[in-house]
Order: sequence, then C-alpha cells, then structure tokens
Amino acid sequence: MQPLHSGYLLCIYFLCRVFRRHEFFPDSMMVPVSDEAVHEALQRVFGFRGFRPNQREVVRALLDGRDVFAVMPTGGGKSLCYQLPAVLLPGTCMVVSPLIALMKDQVDGARANGIRAAFLNSSLTLDDRRKVLDELQSGSLDLLYVAPERFAVESFRKLIGKVPISMAIIDEAHCISEWGHDFRPDYLQLSSLVTMFRDVPVAGFTATATERVQLDTLRRLSLREPFTVRASFDRPNLTYSVLFKDGVDAQIVSLLRNHSGKAGIIYRTSRKSVNDTAAMLQAKGFRALAYHAGLGDEERERNQNAFIRDEVDVIVATIAFGMGIDKSNIRFVIHADMPKSIENYYQETGRAGRDGEPAECTLLFSQGDMAKLHFFIDTMTDEGEKARALEALRKVASFASSGVCRRKALLNYFGEHYRKENCGSCDVCLGHFRSVDCTVEAQMLLSAIARTDERFGASHIVDVVVGSKNRKVKECGHDRIKTYGVGKGKDKKFWRQLIDELLARNVIEKSEGLYPVLILCEKAIGVLRGETTVSMAVAAVARSTVGATAGGNEEGGDPHFFEQLRALRKVLADEQGIAPYQVFTDRTLRLMSARCPRSGEAMLAVSGVGEVKLERYGRQFLGLIDRWCREGEGSGGDA
Ligand code: ADP
Ligand code: ZN
Repeated sequence: MQPLHSGYLLCIYFLCRVFRRHEFFPDSMMVPVSDEAVHEALQRVFGFRGFRPNQREVVRALLDGRDVFAVMPTGGGKSLCYQLPAVLLPGTCMVVSPLIALMKDQVDGARANGIRAAFLNSSLTLDDRRKVLDELQSGSLDLLYVAPERFAVESFRKLIGKVPISMAIIDEAHCISEWGHDFRPDYLQLSSLVTMFRDVPVAGFTATATERVQLDTLRRLSLREPFTVRASFDRPNLTYSVLFKDGVDAQIVSLLRNHSGKAGIIYRTSRKSVNDTAAMLQAKGFRALAYHAGLGDEERERNQNAFIRDEVDVIVATIAFGMGIDKSNIRFVIHADMPKSIENYYQETGRAGRDGEPAECTLLFSQGDMAKLHFFIDTMTDEGEKARALEALRKVASFASSGVCRRKALLNYFGEHYRKENCGSCDVCLGHFRSVDCTVEAQMLLSAIARTDERFGASHIVDVVVGSKNRKVKECGHDRIKTYGVGKGKDKKFWRQLIDELLARNVIEKSEGLYPVLILCEKAIGVLRGETTVSMAVAAVARSTVGATAGGNEEGGDPHFFEQLRALRKVLADEQGIAPYQVFTDRTLRLMSARCPRSGEAMLAVSGVGEVKLERYGRQFLGLIDRWCREGEGSGGDA
C-alpha cells in the first residue's frame, strides 16, 4: 500500500503545481488578483497612473505564481514589479539584495509609500534583528530584504520554511555570474533557492546589458519555466555627447555651470585625479566631494550620504562609486577620463535620470587618454586579459570618435537594433558633432612639422600654424616659413585635436623624453601627397544639450517654484531621516510646479503621489503651492 500511496500523493502534488502555474487551480496561498485590483493598488500605493514597459506583464506573472527572469535597464522600474505583488499577495515577499546600502534605501523608499518593509543584515543590532524576525513571524511584513549570506544560516532557512512567503526575489541577479564584474560568491548559493521555495514564485531581476552575463545568470538561477523579459536598453531621457578633452578642469567647470545646483557624478580614473578635481571644484565654490576606495570607510560613507541627501551636488569618483546608489535625481554624469569599456560607460551613465527626467551624459575624450590607459594595460601579466582590455578600450575610442548616433552605437553594442534615423538627443543627431574631412589641415600641420625639421613639440607647431606672435616663434624664425599662419582661421583647440588624431592614426609620433617633439611617420607621405585622407569628428557647437532630450519633459513649471518645492522636500526628508528623492522624485515635483494642484484630490492625480504620501506630506506641499499661487495672483493684480 505504502508505495502506491506516496506515488499517488506525488502525482497529485505535481498536477497541482502544473495547474497552479497555469492559473487553473489557484491553491490556498494563491488568491486570484484582478487587473482592477492591480491598477487600484498601483495608484493608491505608488501614485502611478500606468505601467512602464514590461511592468504589467511581470506583475501579472508573479501574481499568477510564475517564476520570472527580468532584464530591465536601470530606471526601468524593477522594484515596482515585485513591490506591487508584495502588497497584493498574502505572506511576505523576500528580496535578496547584494548591498547593505541598497537595502536600506529600498526599505526607506517602500516605507515612504506605506509598504510594511524591513531588512535583515549584519548592520542591525541583535535587538533590531529580533524585532524584524518577530515581525516576520507575526506576518506583519509585506517585504523583507535580506543579504545572500543569510541563506547559509541554518536557523534562518528553518525559519523561512515556517512562515508564509509570497515569493522570493533576487535583485541584481547578475551578481551570481562569475562573468560579470559584480560577481558575489555569496550569490552562488542562491541557485538552490527554487528548492527552498517550492510553492511560490522565484524571480531574478537584473540590469546587466551583457548577453553573456544574462544567459549565465539565468542558467545559474535554475528557475522553473520562467516568464522572461528582456526590455530595451534604450534610455530615452538621457542625452549623450562627446567633447574633445582639452583643458579638463575648465571643461568640467563649464559643464557644471550648465547644471548649477543639480546633482551629478564626475568619473575619473585615478584616486589622485579624483582628489585633485574635487579640491579644484571646492576651491571654486562648488558643493563637491570625493569618493574612491582609498578613503576610509567612514569618510566614504559620509560623502556618499551627503550626495544622496542633496547636501552636496557633485560627487567626483572612481568607478568604485555607483552600485548601491538608487538616487533617482542624478541630472548629469561626466566622464572626465575614458571609461574602461562600453559596458562600464553604459552602467556609469545609466545612473543618471532614473526618475525619467532629462539627464545629460558627457564624455571628455582624447586619443591621448588611450595612450595612458595602454600604459596601464601593458603592466598586465595575463595575455588574454590584456588583449580583452585593449579590445574594450578600442571600442570606446571608436564609439567616441565615430560620427554614428551615440544611442544607436550603444544599443548596437548590446545587440539591440535602434530603428529611428535620428534619436534627437545625442550630439551627433543634434548636429553638434560631425565627422569632417581635415586632409588639407592635416597637410598644413605635417608641413609645419617638416619645415621646422621635426624638432618641436605640439604647442609650438600649433603656434606656427595659427600664426602666433610669441617670442619663441620669432626667435626661431618660424614666422618666415611658408606654413606660418596658414591655419589662423581655426582655433588652437582644433589644431590640438587634429594632432591627437594624427598621433592616434600613426601619421605622426611623439619622441620620448622630457620635451617630446613631433616626428613624421611613413603614413605622413601619403597624407602630404593627398593619397590618404584624414577625417575627424569635431564638435560643431560647444553647448549643453540638456533640454533637447526627447523623453519625459512634457510639462515644465516655473523653475523658481520648482526650487521652492525642492527645498521643502529637503526639510521633510531630513525630518524623517530619508533621502529627498524618497519623499517625491524630481518628476513629481516638476509636475506639481506645472499643475499647481490645490486640493488633495488634485494632488493624487500627480504621478508619484499615493495615499500615504498625500497623508504625510500633502498638507505642507499644498500650503506652499497655495502661497505661491496667491503671490502670483497678487503680483498679477498689481501690474
Ligand atoms: P530600477 O530599479 O529598475 O533602476 P526603480 O525601481 O528604482 O528602477 O525605478 C526608477 C524610477 O521610476 C523610480 O523613481 C520609480 O518611482 C519610477 N517608476 C517606477 N515605475 C513607474 C511607473 N509605472 N510610473 C512612473 N514612475 C515609475
Ligand atoms: Zn543620436
């Protein structure tokens, strides 16, 4: 009897699982949730009118008990995909998250919407940990964020087996892949998660754009016929531009002046350049701080928090900065040095504009940076690694110097085809950056180098070509040679960039030593004879592209009013010890400044205002809006 009996049970069990997954027989844990209920919660809890691409489908799959694997770009709205089902389903949604800072941020954000959320990690005191475990056991948590290493703790695994869990989510799931640069050994044990959570859906979320890492992640998670989503990696609200790097400090300052008072990240390669740039900006009165692995833990955390909380505008950082930053109102990212790869560039720029509002990404590029990075790569001992690093660098250089739409080039790199002819929000498509034939100008430079007997450095050659009246030129008699002043129609920056280009193409080279001079290479002959042409990508307009952005900016209000709303947001955030963007995002404030809602109902119609936020902050914001409108009416009446 016994074998037959257990076989029978097993059979029923599998049938139930199969059917449950196909929505026929929801079991006791599975309460069917209607689309109306989903929509109602989207509006009530999050204050959103509609879904972002793919959110609806992912939410539905989870509600129906299906495993999910979702690849969505940063800012795509991944957290809503599981937070919404978490409030609709009975039991606690468990979220595995790799970083302590990220957990706290997510929990603060969820709580700001009235979701019952908590986290468990090593940063908690024993008492706090107990409190969270009590809440978990009493069923009063919608969401519990845990660190992956928890799953190695036997007592925790046992506890999980006893409490009702609605689903298990693996955030930043690519941390499980050893191919990715965020690999976390602790994540490896998560592949057994599906065996721990037999009856509830398990989902992996990631923003990694690299296909190899995506596939590896999916394989390692061993999900059960997951509903799979791979969203477009296009970030329509980001504007991309590349500027020829020349006098980097002045360029950074000028870019910052275009973004006065806005939050941004400046990436630099070395700790020293991070420190120098931060000090330079502080001396000029910018609210900027440094961030790199060489700072003490405490200082790093302090600087990061000051940035998250809008206490400084700019963080100057090495690539150590970024993961674990959910700050949604980053308005610009400047790469003052060349990124290591296109993946890096995409991830680092991707931190801008999570809230969907316009943000600007600027890369300062010169071929000279390539040479510096080559030098570092040459010190690598592993030949394979060296070759990969060089190839990655070459692709960045080609991205920066080609005249192809930046968006198209980025998406193409990740295997995605961008259909539009003109993206409308990159320097190439906006006509700010063009590839122009510079063969004649190159001939002028080469001739100047030849006529001065290949004995002078770049700045002197430029002086000769533009017809500078400086002493050295006169003393050498170079104001009498044929090429003197032939290039005065173009500025020095143009000529320096062209030298950079000719160096990169090995038409000329620099001698070694303290005072390097420019020397002609064999290829120079072809250029001088007109057999080889030289083209160069030049910035046609050196101006900020912000505001040209296609996405998002459909409603604009008075910027002064926006600033007042921002100031109120900061006060309220400080009172509650959370980040300002968790009170309301920039987008929500901008909509408020444009629409001036005067009642609770009107306020709820603003995207990002849910019931809990209305209750917590509505009075203050309505008060401010009221005062602003009255003053406006008052001044109108006087006129
Ligand atoms: P990700 O984790 O994918 O980077 P987040 O979950 O942090 O993205 O969401 C990015 C931003 O988008 C947040 O400010 C969030 O409030 C907002 N957001 C998410 N879903 C929606 C939606 N359906 N409508 C409007 N804004 C949304
Ligand atoms: Zn473009």
